[in-house]
Amino acid sequence: MTREQILNYLKSSDESQLETLWQAADEVRRREVGDAVHLRGLLEISSHCIRECHYCGLNIGNTALMRYRMPVEEIMACAHEGLSFGYGTVVLQAGEDPGLTRQWVADLVRRIKGETPLAVTLSLGERSEEDLAAWREAGADRYLLRFETSNPALYQRIHPVLPGGVPDRIALLRTIKALGYETGSGVMIGIPDQTWDDLAADIELFRELDLDMIGVGPFIPHGATLLGQKGAWTIATEEQVPNTELMTYKVMALARLVCPSANIPATTALATLNTPTGRELCLSRGANVVMPNLTPKKYRALYEIYPSKACIDETAADCRACMHGRIRSIGREVGRGRGDAPRRQLA
Ligand code: SAH
Repeated sequence: MTREQILNYLKSSDESQLETLWQAADEVRRREVGDAVHLRGLLEISSHCIRECHYCGLNIGNTALMRYRMPVEEIMACAHEGLSFGYGTVVLQAGEDPGLTRQWVADLVRRIKGETPLAVTLSLGERSEEDLAAWREAGADRYLLRFETSNPALYQRIHPVLPGGVPDRIALLRTIKALGYETGSGVMIGIPDQTWDDLAADIELFRELDLDMIGVGPFIPHGATLLGQKGAWTIATEEQVPNTELMTYKVMALARLVCPSANIPATTALATLNTPTGRELCLSRGANVVMPNLTPKKYRALYEIYPSKACIDETAADCRACMHGRIRSIGREVGRGRGDAPRRQLA
């Protein structure tokens, strides 16, 4: 697919053209990864964060937010609960928290892998190659790190670099891949000052990085961040990508076309814009994964990367029942097993 074709779809409001896109994405999804929808239990294990990301409510400047770090025993209980729900994967996500030390995370991964058959996905931000290698050695299977935007100037504006830190996440993604992780990335859609060309380049970068997992969601302004303030948008409105539901479906469908066998989740950020039917629409337009939340209810509201997150008042069991119902309602089946990236199963 050329840049022009990608741009054409991104800017299109022609219903028949969009219908063609949805159908193409759905067909490629069915052919490449089948009808199974894999469930990944999401555990938000720490809300501590040392970064200043101007989009994220967990940023270090948000002193009003009460922070938590889940104790190991509680994490293990949640992992076992996920297993009892039939999930094949647990995703451990957190702010960038140096309190989650190399040893602590490695021990946790070893314990989960020792006590359960679960695949372990880590999403712990930008960590050193030594940390990443130690966790891979301990048995972690997958790593998620969104590059957020492929435009270096925009990235630097929204994601201040730590002294001695990496200038962008793209090189780190290549390291993650070289360590043998299934590698996931993605972007936010409608970041203030993100242009159509930026977003088209993001989709081209999915293809170039040959990602195993691609997660995309709308940018949702958070009042405790710089980008959540009025006036954050400065470019001409016709240049600005809207942070809408429709744009998110388009990017998801195009991601399916450029990376046919990737695992693509129907993300919570999208479900926040359309809780009644957003997940089902994602699954019909390229997605094949959902991430029911396993985080204990007492922590959920505190993991506020953006406001009004979907499913914040539900228990883990509610989320499981809800996801099963949604998957069956559109004639799909709940995936069994770990739901590894297809190419890995073939290897
Ligand atoms: N600390 C980890 C996990 C962060 S949360 C990391 O940085 O990788 C995971 C994702 O949530 C981020 O990568 C970002 O794309 C998304 N996110 C953060 N703030 C958001 C917002 N205001 N609106 C929409 N998505 C957001």
